[in-house]
Amino acid sequence: MKNPGLVFWAALTGVAALALSLSAAGPEPSADFRATVERLVRAARETNGAYDTIRGLTDSVGPRLSGSPGDARAVAWAEAALKRLGFKNVRAEIVTVPHWERGEESGEIVSPAPFRLSLCALGGSAPNPVLSTLRYFPEEYHAHVVEHRCPAKVCKGLIKFSILADKCTGCMACAKKCPTKAISGEKKKVHVIDQAGCIKCGACLDTCKFSAVEVK
Ligand code: SF4
Ligand code: SF4
Repeated sequence: MKNPGLVFWAALTGVAALALSLSAAGPEPSADFRATVERLVRAARETNGAYDTIRGLTDSVGPRLSGSPGDARAVAWAEAALKRLGFKNVRAEIVTVPHWERGEESGEIVSPAPFRLSLCALGGSAPNPVLSTLRYFPEEYHAHVVEHRCPAKVCKGLIKFSILADKCTGCMACAKKCPTKAISGEKKKVHVIDQAGCIKCGACLDTCKFSAVEVK
């Protein structure tokens, strides 16, 4: 969104950085320049000006997320403060900043016992993918969380591959494809899957031509 913003702080920071770079790499600073810098440093150390300025901003403006009413109040506050300090040519420029607004948050634990939660969204976070799936596919969440099953048969922690004895011909094709050697059986005999060795890769399901591998 378009929003008036200030460039003064950046300008002041730039002056300080310039002074530092001059003293670090450039020619020896003049006596006048050095005296001015020392006067500024002494003033910063001996007065509460910086602290009072920050306190004025935080106490009188409060939260000021970019693009919010507080942000606009902060810009107005800074303009007034700089003019009060005697700066010339003080003005707010139009800049584009990200804008985020907190919506309604709600949540609850559905298993093993229902429990309402207090939530607070993170600024700039994008909850829509989760909100959309919660709204349109609640049965998917119920199946996974409450019934511990994956209807789409893709969550490895919730599925199990097994071989149907009445369909297995003992062709051995799946055993040859299994990357963990979790399938055993003799030729023309029913094969079995060792669940402890199965990594749920699905190779046996893809290989079997007799629909003898099931996943559930
Ligand atoms: S590929 Fe199918 S039919 Fe062949 S052994 Fe494996 S499960 Fe049995
Ligand atoms: S799913 Fe993969 S690891 Fe498991 S038995 Fe089948 S081929 Fe082997």
